[in-house]
Amino acid sequence: MQLQRQRRAVVEYGKRMLASGLTTGTGGNLSVRDPKTGLIALSPSGVEYPAMSPGDVVLVDTDGTVADGRRKPSSEAGFHLALYRKRSDIGAVVHTHSVYASTMACLHWEIPAVHYLIGFAGKKVPLAPYATFGTEALAHNVAEGIGDGNAVLLANHGLVAVGAGLAEAFSCAEEIELVARIYYQARCAGTPRLIDDPEMDRVIEKFKTYGK
Ligand SMILES: [Zn+2]
Repeated sequence: MQLQRQRRAVVEYGKRMLASGLTTGTGGNLSVRDPKTGLIALSPSGVEYPAMSPGDVVLVDTDGTVADGRRKPSSEAGFHLALYRKRSDIGAVVHTHSVYASTMACLHWEIPAVHYLIGFAGKKVPLAPYATFGTEALAHNVAEGIGDGNAVLLANHGLVAVGAGLAEAFSCAEEIELVARIYYQARCAGTPRLIDDPEMDRVIEKFKTYGK
């Protein structure tokens, strides 16, 4: 099987997405790019994560042409591919409907630097304007909206997180969900005090070497 390692990783992180409560049912989707071939291993459409096997994962090129796979690619293939075309540093994409990030997205709020863990994404998580799921319009909004950060909220929809690999993109999705929850609760209880720009610069610098 072509790109077996990447296909296995998509299955593994799909299961983790479900186990960690970042998604439910067949919601969300994820992909990883193989730097050698440039092909993208993408989760299939409509397959439950517990039942997913590496053979269900679809291989596509950045134009969406299927190189190998027996399944239909995820309905959100469009924004995955738009992100890979836009930024050569992106090696993986994770999309979730996690509850607190989606709550922010339904309020049309950005997530500011309320907690230092926002540094996984950048100095904030911006909001991409609403477009119908699975459309070219949404793919455009996501690729534009993310800027040079690692996460973007999709209005009235959910979250997209990216990284050099699936481990990084998944951690980013997980940490941003936590920050969204903290921000929501802080806003319910009072007026959160934000971290200033120079301090966020220091945090982001520290993250570059953290754990390495
Ligand atoms: Zn979605």
